[in-house]
Amino acid sequence: MTEKVDYLLTGGTVVTMNSEYDLFAGGAVAVRDNEIVAVGTAEDLAARFEAAETIDCTNMAVMPGLVNAHTHVPMTLLRGLNDDLRLDVWLGYLMPLEREFVTPDFVRLGTQVACAEMIRSGVTTFADMYYFEEVIAETTAEIGMRALLGQTVLVFPAPDAETYEDALVLCRRFIEKWNGHALIQPAVSPHAWYTATSELLRACADLARAFNVPIHTHISETALEVQNCRKQHNMPVVPWNARHGLLETRLLAAHCVHLDRGELYDLKKAGAGIAHCPTSNLKLASGAAQVSQMVEMGLKVGIGTDGPASNNDLDMFEEMRLAALLAKTVSNDPTVLPARRALELATIGGARAVHMADITGSLEPGKRADIAIVEMTGLHNWPHFHNNPDAVYSRLVYAAKSTDVIHVMCNGRFLMRDKALLTVNEDEIKKEATAVAADIDAFVLRRESSPYNKLVLLAGVQRQESFEVQVKVPLESDEAVLAVLADGKLEITKQSHYKQYDHYFLFEGDDPDASRLRYREDEFVDESDKVYQARSRLTLLGEVHEQEYPNAVMLSRSRYLAPTEQSLRFYREYFAPAQEIEVHKDRHRWRIVYKETDFAVNLDKVVKPALPGHFLEIKSRTWSRSDAERKAALITELLKLFGVEPAAAVPKEYIQLAMSHLEEN
Ligand SMILES: [Zn+2]
Repeated sequence: MTEKVDYLLTGGTVVTMNSEYDLFAGGAVAVRDNEIVAVGTAEDLAARFEAAETIDCTNMAVMPGLVNAHTHVPMTLLRGLNDDLRLDVWLGYLMPLEREFVTPDFVRLGTQVACAEMIRSGVTTFADMYYFEEVIAETTAEIGMRALLGQTVLVFPAPDAETYEDALVLCRRFIEKWNGHALIQPAVSPHAWYTATSELLRACADLARAFNVPIHTHISETALEVQNCRKQHNMPVVPWNARHGLLETRLLAAHCVHLDRGELYDLKKAGAGIAHCPTSNLKLASGAAQVSQMVEMGLKVGIGTDGPASNNDLDMFEEMRLAALLAKTVSNDPTVLPARRALELATIGGARAVHMADITGSLEPGKRADIAIVEMTGLHNWPHFHNNPDAVYSRLVYAAKSTDVIHVMCNGRFLMRDKALLTVNEDEIKKEATAVAADIDAFVLRRESSPYNKLVLLAGVQRQESFEVQVKVPLESDEAVLAVLADGKLEITKQSHYKQYDHYFLFEGDDPDASRLRYREDEFVDESDKVYQARSRLTLLGEVHEQEYPNAVMLSRSRYLAPTEQSLRFYREYFAPAQEIEVHKDRHRWRIVYKETDFAVNLDKVVKPALPGHFLEIKSRTWSRSDAERKAALITELLKLFGVEPAAAVPKEYIQLAMSHLEEN
């Protein structure tokens, strides 16, 4: 009596990657609906099953579909746009471009391109993190791949969310809609601790726990990141994430290049997955993760390509080979991460890392039919030896190429047959991608002459999107304010006196986000007016205020900050501004804490151009809309406390006051 199945894949070498590493030369796999029904020898399965379709896999390896444990799929449309740059410069270049171009349509097309490429290289499951993850989910499900998809949550405005509160709302909706889907596992993706606040990280962990969904984040990609975390928080990155509850979720941590043993132990205890991204780490010179140590300790390690803008492809064959080679070189030991282990990391290891090992990653009865079939007769993979059956692993890892993948099945459905994609129209998406690339080319060329781009090209630009709520009030005399500061009612944490020399370069052009570049020198002076410290920096400023609150409290944003390594003359010549305006101030600054909130209080005398009286400024950094509203209200209270009428405030920057003064005189 034979059992009916949909497919019998027969005659190939079946590489199961089960816990016994069972191999069947001349083996077969039986598939019914979306499941693997049986794995064994061709004769055995032929006797047991009657298949609607039998597929001859002679001279092929039949293996689990590969798992790409970390990527950003829509970035296929940014592939090769800007290479060989430092990570911060690269991000400075890329992020404005993403804000301009990343729309649901962009994300859909980018996902189609990525899925097509991944299917061609034998991938059936991937873990993603990007914007508009909802669209990525729809597209991936349509194409028929399996994925863990993380909706990004950032403190900065993102293409799909102005604030992180908005991103959290998006993320919750995304989870509610997709949780329980046959192919898609929604997840929460705080991009990284350094693009997050404490509240943001905690909110992400709470959301993930509430729905029991994974968190997909970047951890310890560069040494600088770890250094900064230690400096800012007195601890490395894993404990900082742990403190905010991330280790109490099903965590997928990408990169993990610079971890100490204690951190590895904590990740193991938390059952976290690690996505090792060798190409990206090499290309960006981030370093090499201690993969062999992680594997020895029993951590759940998978392999990821990272986004195609930092790789630049999604080829998992290349990635697993590189993982093996890099581990050997790093440990100075060729026996480390042998071929079978490398294939394990790219299959069942990756499935464990993305928390899907119960359904995919190996060829076993009861698991989903996620299968890649690889031709093994290419000249580059010839001849074969038969003295050791394990040779199939080295053939797959060290010699096979992604172009050898001939059939791919995911969830029991063929996505590629005889190298023809069945669920994506490759010609169509290539044509569409060409059009997007042309638009991006035009945009980049247009910006070539902008101060922003020049600032980026100068190198060393730090992306710093900093938001500030502030108020400015002209005063006839500073005595009343000084008296309040002296009476001890306010908690003063720091006091300084400095002279501030600002040169504003003004540009003509249609980018209000990058219309002014400020070269600022601060000279700190002691009681006897002697300079004891000086500093200078460049800041690119927008012309418009983000928002105004009652009583002329403004929300302003400075976009990019760069250290100054050159002279003022150099910058003047380099940027060739349309106009230059100088503002000199004598500034007394107090850092105060009011209602548990930090504020800077400035008493300024504008010396050039000579403006009458003094100005009182109250400022505070902010990251979110609700926080900005709260601080705006506190600022109004502070003004009253200083005996200043809030209605007297002027919603203007010093550059504007200077410009109108110059016009009047
Ligand atoms: Zn990444």
